[in-house]
Amino acid sequence: MLHSNADSHSDEASTIVNGRTFRRLIGRDEISRRVAQLGKLISQDYCDKQPLFVAVLKGSLMFAADLARSLTIPCELEFVRASSYGNSMTAGARIKLRDFRKNAFEGRDIILVEDIVDSGRTISSISQRLNGYSPNSIRIATFLFKPEVYRADLALDYVGFEIPVKFVVGYGMDFAEQGRGLPDVYALDR
Ligand code: 5GP
Repeated sequence: MLHSNADSHSDEASTIVNGRTFRRLIGRDEISRRVAQLGKLISQDYCDKQPLFVAVLKGSLMFAADLARSLTIPCELEFVRASSYGNSMTAGARIKLRDFRKNAFEGRDIILVEDIVDSGRTISSISQRLNGYSPNSIRIATFLFKPEVYRADLALDYVGFEIPVKFVVGYGMDFAEQGRGLPDVYALDR
């Protein structure tokens, strides 16, 4: 069945978002299998804890929702916003954190939920900020990871997929706010 999305045209192998052609990189079945594995792993690792999942909006929305549903342990969710790429395909100059309850993190075992880690600047900055609110621990769960361009020294504890250095959309990730609703992940066709 063709997927229809108001902001893009897509078929099985490719999609057009904002006038650019993207090719499918990771299909929805593979995504759901991998997220279920991560959910199982996290549930085992945190079987005697009550972790607080802190999802970074907007991109991690789908990942956080699917991950939460794959857990067999109690799950609490909090959200933060970081400044995003805007309309460009390269990292913005500044990362700001907003829209969060400052007293939500004290003493908690936090799992930061990100859509994609590229240079690692965003996740390092968020992790550093959250550390200032005295959590018990912080681990990272990212849906995608581009190891070739990673420059941070923060350990990534739960990684969905390692991908090459390509610009991707779908499964929550956007290109100038378009394409987030695509159930598969697509990479820009250069
Ligand atoms: P970093 O700070 O690790 O360089 O970049 C991470 C952030 O940049 C992600 O949270 C995401 O917002 C954005 N980003 C990095 N690579 C991509 C990509 O391929 N596609 C999209 N849509 N966003 C990306």
